[in-house]
Amino acid sequence: MPATLLVLGEVADGHLTKLSAEIAALARGLAASAGGQALGLVVDRAPDAAAGELAAHLPRVVSVALGPAADEAWAPHAAAEARRLVGEGATHVLAGVTNDGRDVAGLLCGALGWGILANASGAAWDGDALVVRATVLAGKAITRSTVEAPNAIVTVSPGAAEASPLAVAGSVESRSPVGQPVVPAAAVLDRVAEAGAAVSLEEAKVVVVGGRGVGGPEGFGLVDELAGLLGGVTGASRAAVDAGWIPYARQIGQTGKVVRPTLYLSLGVSGAMQHRAGMQGSEHIVAVNRDPDAPIAEIADLFVLGDLFEVGPALAAELRARRGG
Ligand SMILES: Cc1cc2nc3c(=O)[nH]c(=O)nc-3n(C[C@H](O)[C@H](O)[C@H](O)COP(=O)(O)OP(=O)(O)OC[C@H]3O[C@@H](n4cnc5c(N)ncnc54)[C@H](O)[C@@H]3O)c2cc1C
Repeated sequence: MPATLLVLGEVADGHLTKLSAEIAALARGLAASAGGQALGLVVDRAPDAAAGELAAHLPRVVSVALGPAADEAWAPHAAAEARRLVGEGATHVLAGVTNDGRDVAGLLCGALGWGILANASGAAWDGDALVVRATVLAGKAITRSTVEAPNAIVTVSPGAAEASPLAVAGSVESRSPVGQPVVPAAAVLDRVAEAGAAVSLEEAKVVVVGGRGVGGPEGFGLVDELAGLLGGVTGASRAAVDAGWIPYARQIGQTGKVVRPTLYLSLGVSGAMQHRAGMQGSEHIVAVNRDPDAPIAEIADLFVLGDLFEVGPALAAELRARRGG
């Protein structure tokens, strides 16, 4: 039976995420080479805009508006909608390596009894079998895993494919929610907008990252300032998060977020393997560190050897001067 690849579209600030558009391109390519189909799913309280955006990349999108009363954790509801589409023939589910994508993938793994491959950086067919490529050990090795079962769930890293809209946009089918989450969904009691998070870390074109070297929560003032001047978003290493200097939502790495900005600038980050797992795909890597042997020097396009409390303010002053004040 030809494969039917289901793309789980994620919504940020009412719009489709860049990662979801990339996954759509990957799914479309896989569907085309298998003579199969690719379809999308958007589940949100207000899914219309994002569903339309996903339909620019996929021939068919199912859009499910969760009722305002269903103010509950999103993943169990999204997994229920994905399970319905599996019941209608989807053979593979592709989600992003985001907190929500991982949640849904894990729930579906339990609900469907399907296997899962995580952090894919690419995928192709070998006959009827899906072969998933993943970068591991901070880019030191690439694994190729073959899915022998007819079904699988795959979480996909940023950059696995380049988003490319269809010449003619696909159709959007609006549906009522299944109503029954795959597991009881926790009620959302309150929503708090994170300060300075107008653009999500995963979507940001510029990410400025503070590590243990910034010395304390006040050190993130400099990181935030540079992020603001560069029109970017603040990120952190786990050491800074574990020290309680900045919330976990800012953590980049193996157990945090995966970013792939045009510019990654770090201050006082050593570049441990687990950190690199979340940022090595960045287009340009600039690192400020006073240790010439810091591992991040191996992957930095520009390594600035110096004290971040000298280099950082000098850079901020230069950026301010270029802006005219
Ligand atoms: C299972 C597991 C999962 C993990 N997941 C993650 C993860 O998701 N993300 C993550 O980041 N880490 C993760 N880690 C932790 C990781 O191994 C490192 O411990 C962590 O990344 C180190 O953070 P850091 O670079 O900020 O601190 P350090 O390694 O302590 O480096 C601080 C750097 O700052 C430099 N420095 C200090 N002062 C200055 C100064 N004034 N000017 C310039 N440079 C200065 C130092 O030379 C040093 O290179 C994980 C670890 C494990 C075991």
